[in-house]
Amino acid sequence: MNADGMLRLLAAEPSLLPSAPDGADGKAIETRRRERHDCLRCGEPADTAAIVDLHEYGKCWLDLCYRDFIAVQNAN
Ligand SMILES: [Zn+2]
Repeated sequence: MNADGMLRLLAAEPSLLPSAPDGADGKAIETRRRERHDCLRCGEPADTAAIVDLHEYGKCWLDLCYRDFIAVQNAN
């Protein structure tokens, strides 16, 4: 799934997503995952973090709980 499709699925507003640093590696993602963020889709505590490249908005974090992460994966 491309980033646009993912955002549609999540009903996320791209301009509101937190921007991710360029060149974030697995360690940065792990750090993000350990921080306390809310799931983009349901507002529950997020268990997963991923980076999407939104081009005009740059790279952004996608913080999701497991349930919504799985939902996105399954829709992929
Ligand atoms: Zn969720």
